[in-house]
Amino acid sequence: MSTVLDPPEDLLASLRRSDFRPSRSKGQHFLIDSSIARRIIEAASVTKDTPVLEIGPGAGALTRHLVTLASGVTAVEIDSRLAGVLQEAYGRYDHLNIVNGDVLDLDLSDLMGRYGASGFVLVANLPYGITGPVLDRLIAHRARISCVVIMVQHEVGGRLTARPGTKAYGAITAIMAYHYDVESLFRVGGDRFVPRPAVDSVVLRLTPHERPPVAVRDAGLLNDVIKAAFRHRRKMLHHAMNRLNPGSAGFLSEHTGIDLKRRGETLDLNEFAALADALSAFRNHRGHGC
Ligand code: SAM
Repeated sequence: MSTVLDPPEDLLASLRRSDFRPSRSKGQHFLIDSSIARRIIEAASVTKDTPVLEIGPGAGALTRHLVTLASGVTAVEIDSRLAGVLQEAYGRYDHLNIVNGDVLDLDLSDLMGRYGASGFVLVANLPYGITGPVLDRLIAHRARISCVVIMVQHEVGGRLTARPGTKAYGAITAIMAYHYDVESLFRVGGDRFVPRPAVDSVVLRLTPHERPPVAVRDAGLLNDVIKAAFRHRRKMLHHAMNRLNPGSAGFLSEHTGIDLKRRGETLDLNEFAALADALSAFRNHRGHGC
């Protein structure tokens, strides 16, 4: 593997000399600081044995480092023009698989199945518009993922690492915390991108838990309880729980000791798990005709 690569600045410059106009709807803000690119890759601890999936390689700011470290890199780019430019610049690396398509249309486990049963690392400077659906996929494919390092909008990073009781704490905070250890690594200013985005970004590392941090009988029900608690976040929990399961609030409060006059946004993951287990018991109890 050679390490002599075309800097993405050259690709960007040649794209800009042609009639390429970055698309706002595709979240095309290209990283132009290679020291940031290196810090992202380092955070993912990529080795020769780690298959890597990159979402949105763009002009290759991260890809050009990834191909020198990993023995298999799959890069999914929705923009056919960029995919073509990348293919031209890096096509000589036969361990790089550039897929021109929408990552949301692909089954990530199938896509990465070509590298065998071991987990893959996901690296991305994520286009802002698809952050939510990508997080859903991180949960769905968690069993195949060994590490995720993503750059997201600063505000999204704040939500994913928020403490209970804060404004930024939401359903996605608690749900991701059940599946992943989420670390905020460093902030990246808007001036590190072309074109410059309106807001700063942050780099996060998400490491799947070997075992969930809380024991719960039914993870699907935990998900439902968390979502219900935040659906009307200004209302008391007994309202949310009774809406999720009519008549359950009294039972839940009695069996968990949690005061359901509290708002959902004040509960930590342990308390959500306790509610989910009690709700499961409530349903069984009623199901048995009592
Ligand atoms: N990785 C490059 C960098 O760091 O400079 C580009 C990052 S840019 C923020 C996001 C990239 O994702 C763009 O190249 C864009 O075309 C691509 N993209 C947007 N939506 C996508 C999707 N649904 N599937 C795959 N790629 C997508």
